[in-house]
Amino acid sequence: MAYFICRNEKIREFFITISWISCLFASAWMLYNSYKAEGKEIFMKKVDERDIMFSRLGYLKGTPIYDEYYKEHPDKKGIDDMLRSRPGFGEPGTVAFDEIRSPVGNSGFEFLSDIKHLADKKTDVSPKKLDKRVITDEIKKWTRYFGADLVGIAEVRSEHYYTHRGRPEAVWGQVVDEKATYVIVFAVEMDEEMIKRAPEVEVAIEGVKSYVNSAVIGLWLAYYIRSFGYSARTHMDGNYLGMVQKMAVDAGLGEIGKSGLLLTRKFGSRVRLGAVTTDLPLFSDDKDEMGVESVCMKCMRCVEKCPSKAIQEGGKVMVDGQMEWPAISPEKCYMVWSRMGTDCGLCISECPFSKGISELLLKKSDESSETLKKLLAEE
Ligand code: SF4
Ligand code: SF4
Repeated sequence: MAYFICRNEKIREFFITISWISCLFASAWMLYNSYKAEGKEIFMKKVDERDIMFSRLGYLKGTPIYDEYYKEHPDKKGIDDMLRSRPGFGEPGTVAFDEIRSPVGNSGFEFLSDIKHLADKKTDVSPKKLDKRVITDEIKKWTRYFGADLVGIAEVRSEHYYTHRGRPEAVWGQVVDEKATYVIVFAVEMDEEMIKRAPEVEVAIEGVKSYVNSAVIGLWLAYYIRSFGYSARTHMDGNYLGMVQKMAVDAGLGEIGKSGLLLTRKFGSRVRLGAVTTDLPLFSDDKDEMGVESVCMKCMRCVEKCPSKAIQEGGKVMVDGQMEWPAISPEKCYMVWSRMGTDCGLCISECPFSKGISELLLKKSDESSETLKKLLAEE
């Protein structure tokens, strides 16, 4: 209206520009919401495995990988050199080191390292035509039988995968270009009594045991799927192509909590995850939107108990177009690991969801912080 009654050329141009900008914003917003409604995230961030702490700890001075990485990331060089100079998992010189018990965990990692090449294999069988409902149910049934405590299926999204591989050294820098359509994600419960011992050596042993169990489940499952002529790739300790936690959320296993860990209804974060990606057609599961955010906002126990203050205070923030908890500092977290010689685990053992009271917590999530804190203090 202002446009029609305005005779001044400059003001008219101003109104036209404002109208165009408004139209562009409205269209972008509608497009974003329609994608969200379909369960797609158009701004989801992808992660480069070369940047994660476990990869960086392996970059040794004097190697081409070290030179190339820190030429690109000089800001990380100082802290990484310092962290690499400290004793590692289960090594002498750490607080929790025990000559007899520490090697239990380390030998488990050595075993995992020896079998990780089995994660990927081609099949020369022609694909068999299978009833999608039947094979979906069978896959879940056998995954549980192999030892999984939870299992779900999701459609693969490109954001599940890393952009580039960061470990092992032989594949460093390779672009991840996978074409799988579905991912079967499973969780293995970690023993409550062992986890309660965090940050002592028992928590590390239980963690490694669960890595071993989930690797074996994933490998067997992948061999089973390949026998029908479909691709199957296991994601296991030391040989991941993507972020299993993200896959687990989409497969309905739980939600990410303030601790940055997956919280499941039954075991909280007291789980280890494994996954198999495949082109076998399957039915996928819905996300389990449990509502952990409102509990976390009133709990914050992991923030208080974290010895390195790696878990930042505060609620979710906008990251690349979606609301996420502020990132955990891997450097601060690893400082504790290298001091203890274990993977600490206090954010797992202290989380009320890990103590089997998830349903009660979620039911009471609308109550005041004081009531919830009282409830947490009683359990
Ligand atoms: S300890 Fe509390 S704040 Fe942290 S993840 Fe568990 S429920 Fe959320
Ligand atoms: S493992 Fe320990 S140091 Fe790391 S975030 Fe959890 S509580 Fe903090």
